[in-house]
Amino acid sequence: MLHSATGHCERCQRPAPFRRKTVHTPYLEVHHKVWLAHGGQDTVENAEALCPTVTVSNTMMVSRSAHSI
Ligand SMILES: [Zn+2]
Repeated sequence: MLHSATGHCERCQRPAPFRRKTVHTPYLEVHHKVWLAHGGQDTVENAEALCPTVTVSNTMMVSRSAHSI
């Protein structure tokens, strides 16, 4: 799933901000390009490894646009 063994965010290309203390792998979150709830598939093609910063701003954008509707 996390093919980004390089530990770089696929959105902003920055390296993972920190590594998990336990297993020492880069900390990136799996984000589905098309949400599973929207019919997206749980595949590598539909997933990207994002740093927490991008994930947070992404979520904020979603909730903001949901507000404006
Ligand atoms: Zn990022």
